[in-house]
Amino acid sequence: MAADDIPLWLFADQLGPRVYAGQHTDRPILLIEADSALRRRRFHRQKLHLVLSALRHAKADLGERATLIRADTYTVALRRYGRPVLVHEPTSHAAERFVHRLRRDGLVADILPTPTFALPRSEFRQWAGDRKRFRLEDFYREQRRRFGILMDGAEPVGGRWNFDTDNREPPPKGRAALDVPPPYRPEEDDVDAGVRRDLDAMAIDTVGVDGPRLFPVTPAEADEALRQFIARRLPDFGRYEDAMMGADWAMAHSLLSVPLNLGVLHPLDAVHAAEQAYRDGSAPLAAVEGFIRQILGWREYMWQLYWHFGPGYLDGNQLGAHTELPDWWKDLDAGQVEAECLRQALSGVRMRGWAHHIQRLMVLGNHALQRGYQPRALSDWFASAFVDGFAWVMPTNVIGMSQHADGGKVATKPYASGGAYINKMSDHCGRCRFDPKKRLGPDACPFTAGYWAFVHRHQDLLRANMRTARAVSSMNRLADLDAVLDQERHRDAF
Ligand code: FAD
Repeated sequence: MAADDIPLWLFADQLGPRVYAGQHTDRPILLIEADSALRRRRFHRQKLHLVLSALRHAKADLGERATLIRADTYTVALRRYGRPVLVHEPTSHAAERFVHRLRRDGLVADILPTPTFALPRSEFRQWAGDRKRFRLEDFYREQRRRFGILMDGAEPVGGRWNFDTDNREPPPKGRAALDVPPPYRPEEDDVDAGVRRDLDAMAIDTVGVDGPRLFPVTPAEADEALRQFIARRLPDFGRYEDAMMGADWAMAHSLLSVPLNLGVLHPLDAVHAAEQAYRDGSAPLAAVEGFIRQILGWREYMWQLYWHFGPGYLDGNQLGAHTELPDWWKDLDAGQVEAECLRQALSGVRMRGWAHHIQRLMVLGNHALQRGYQPRALSDWFASAFVDGFAWVMPTNVIGMSQHADGGKVATKPYASGGAYINKMSDHCGRCRFDPKKRLGPDACPFTAGYWAFVHRHQDLLRANMRTARAVSSMNRLADLDAVLDQERHRDAF
């Protein structure tokens, strides 16, 4: 164990007490605002705001214990600080290589395991062994057992592991929004005002609008957001998880990805709070299990697979997708988009740097898959345009789950679907100028027609997969297929 007085350097996604309290309570803390990191990509303005606000609030909370240095680069700041520091394993391959280099250069004294996830990376390596196939379900059950979550002895509570997936409903008819209390909203303070002023002055090239801060950035705010979610919204979680409503951007989602990814909320704290709500009888098992599956299952799984698959995974492009992302997409120019579902999703990203899961997967991801957007460029786009985008979370979600560019390591089939799915699961199509039932003609839905173009392009691959072979047979029965393919080759309105 390193001497108690060696300072601890915190990256901007390591800002919670699990990182700097406990055995590290006596250490001085170093925080760095590196200008080069803010300019590395064209980030969403609100993402930069959240990161700077989180760092500066950490400085304010930690008081004299913390030093905050602003510099061009991390290395310049570390040299200026003048003392070797401890650091926890960072959350990306690039940052990991970087801290090892700093260690060789004597600027970092030691690198400790990351404390911001439930399962240590070493334990995952043991579990993974030389497994060829990875299934979320196997990992998730192991996590429940390992952490004793929703367990009655060796058995899952309620006699089943999964109460979630048979539970997804379309949006309720006759309503513009779900009947659930609104999500937690933090109050901005002087720190936020300072961040806003500085970002204006720095003239960084960003995307998206500068809106009010919508997500927690401190441990105290994160605790309050979790408390309110558990008390008011968790009972409705899960049921409408796959539904989309134009007038309800948050639905019954937790909006906790930002504080989780900044490290100000620990995943096990969220999981324990949800389990307690079930034990107290204040939330049904289906909702609680669904929420816990997202955090202890999906989130942890994506994190571990990021390391397991390694940096080369990002270059996967099994479907040979090479289309450049169009400018309207990169600029979040929702005004140029006519399809209501795509307009809503892109406008959510523009306004808040956030869209919910099914918009990411079945609208944005689905569109990109159908149009053959280059997967790595798409992954970079998600990482910079979303307020909860971090390097570790993109590859398996974007390259794997959404674009099937990894040859099926994460998902057994491509998540491509036509307008019928979107029509069933949303209230968008009623006010759209396209018709989800039409694949040909001026009002042919770009998702419906794009789906058939996608199936045609990848028919060999889809025919060979039991789960998608039927799509190819259905395509072969379309009398107007050639006309649909020709129309989609020339489509310029989405
Ligand atoms: P909820 O619906 O309330 O779910 C609870 C929590 O579960 C989330 O906060 C999140 O921490 C976790 N979770 C659930 N699924 C996943 C998953 N697949 N990967 C990681 N965590 C998960 N999540 C991010 O945190 N950052 C991203 O940049 C991101 N990009 C995505 C891109 C694509 C194409 C897809 C398909 C998914 C992406 N996700 C990402 C996962 C998921 O969509 C978001 O975590 C979720 O929408 C955040 O909203 P929420 O906090 O209200 O989540």
